[in-house]
Amino acid sequence: MKPTLLQKGIQSKLLRWFKKNGRDLPWRKTRDPYAIWVSEIMLQQTQVATVVPYFQKFLKTFPTIHQLAKSDLSKVLKTWEGLGYYSRARNLHGASRILLNHFRGKVPDTLKDLLSLSGIGRSTAGAILSFAFHKEAPILDGNAKRILSRLFAVSGSPEERKTEQLLWKFSESLIPKGYSNPFNQALMDLGSMICTPKDPQCPKCPLHDFCKGYGSGKPEKYPVKEPKKKIPHIESATAVIKKGEKVLLNQRPPEGLLGGLWEFPNCRVGLKQGPRLRLGLINAIKKEMGMDVEVKKFMGIFYQTYSHFKLTMHIFHCRHLNGKGKGKWVPLKGLRLLPLSKIHRRIADTIIPKLSPLRERNQ
Ligand code: SF4
Repeated sequence: MKPTLLQKGIQSKLLRWFKKNGRDLPWRKTRDPYAIWVSEIMLQQTQVATVVPYFQKFLKTFPTIHQLAKSDLSKVLKTWEGLGYYSRARNLHGASRILLNHFRGKVPDTLKDLLSLSGIGRSTAGAILSFAFHKEAPILDGNAKRILSRLFAVSGSPEERKTEQLLWKFSESLIPKGYSNPFNQALMDLGSMICTPKDPQCPKCPLHDFCKGYGSGKPEKYPVKEPKKKIPHIESATAVIKKGEKVLLNQRPPEGLLGGLWEFPNCRVGLKQGPRLRLGLINAIKKEMGMDVEVKKFMGIFYQTYSHFKLTMHIFHCRHLNGKGKGKWVPLKGLRLLPLSKIHRRIADTIIPKLSPLRERNQ
């Protein structure tokens, strides 16, 4: 179908702006579908500036699909440590093995095949198809959703299926023939640099002549937001159990939140349990790990916010009394080599150095 004057106007203004202002990013210097796939997975829920060093390190460690597929998940998680949303790393690793076994070690170039891989949704597939294979595939990441909602003053929330489908239609209808790659990149850059969530710079925007959101005088009211859900607050007690130059760690089950990462033994506790925290921790370690410990000292509280809950972690130095139990006694020097979540890495870096052998004996 021939593009309308509006579509043509949006396309040419956005492409011209991108040519002058587009960001110079490492994954834009390659056509390697593997590198582009890695970058798109990392960019899900994470800002460009955070992703850049991780992307470089990841490709240095796993330069090909073959090398990724042949590596241990633990090494992949270690390389991902600090980037968060670890299911992305597990999905990449799992999908690389499928690619090796069923796709001759190559990233596929069809929507159907891409969607069959874990961790790839329609927008990530569209980005891979347009950036690596120059196919005319739309994207609908957070930036595109925001720009299109504002451009067309879309009255529903993108969380609703009907509105999401409408946004997909807009995204698809705007792709200029033969220019899906720069057009989709331009949408991403405009969303990060100009059409930002809280403070859109409309006078500087190449699309302001066409933008209904800007015309309304309140562009930031788009996209329409669903009422915020209150996220639950979880409290936990964590035991740092040190024996000589070793410390006890557990590995989380491979699936689910932070799957495959290592952590200090911990248990959920009720809010405001106060002095019963210590008893709860002793009982949990006895039950879950089959070992007796004595709580020596309260070491502090750490906080962490995840996408679906807030965590308050009470940390205690404990002494092993008896029982072999589960878990692994890890040499302190080996802690750096294991993948730990952010909050457990903080414990390793800040609490453990406070437990000198002398203090261990005297406490
Ligand atoms: S004019 Fe403003 S609201 Fe509209 S797309 Fe540009 S920055 Fe976003």
